[in-house]
Amino acid sequence: MAFTLPKLAYDYKALEPYIDAQTMEIHYSKHHQAYVTNVNNAIAGKPEDTMSLEDILKNISKQPPVVRNNAGGVFNHNLFWTVMKPNGGGEPSGALADAIKSTFGSVADFKTKFAEAGATRFGSGWAWLCVTGGKLAICSTPNQDNPLMDISECKGTPILGLDVWEHAYYLKYQNRRPEYITNFWNVINWDEVAKRLDNAK
Ligand code: MN
Repeated sequence: MAFTLPKLAYDYKALEPYIDAQTMEIHYSKHHQAYVTNVNNAIAGKPEDTMSLEDILKNISKQPPVVRNNAGGVFNHNLFWTVMKPNGGGEPSGALADAIKSTFGSVADFKTKFAEAGATRFGSGWAWLCVTGGKLAICSTPNQDNPLMDISECKGTPILGLDVWEHAYYLKYQNRRPEYITNFWNVINWDEVAKRLDNAK
């Protein structure tokens, strides 16, 4: 098997009350697992079987939809679980805080723009904070696309991603996606975002 489901660093209930345990369990053990299984099946016996996920994504225009959707799904969820943690939230610090303030004016302005990117994504998709040409940028992508993909309208290295598919919030929030996004700030793992910023530079 080319790809495996990475272990979660916390329990299903660890992000309560902001993200409920049932949503976490289904999201991780069913949805994420399905992306892993489906991409492995799609690339079995092909050269992609030994390629890195990032290399597949960077050349995704050469792949059929089944690889685009499921390789994207694997990468996006691998990232998503790491940018949240129990007792997360608070304020970013250091180089990340400096970059956010110099790009967006303030952390509050950044949160507003990021939330807007997630709230206005029609249908299923993701909101992203990326490093593009050494600078921070906010964007969103449909379905399981992401900024690493060569077909993406917003290209860059994602350092923060928020899943705005209904499966990420519907059990607890139903149609209230903006409330889910507001509560995401209570579980964000700024240290992980800062680490990814460091690695992207
Ligand atoms: Mn998802």
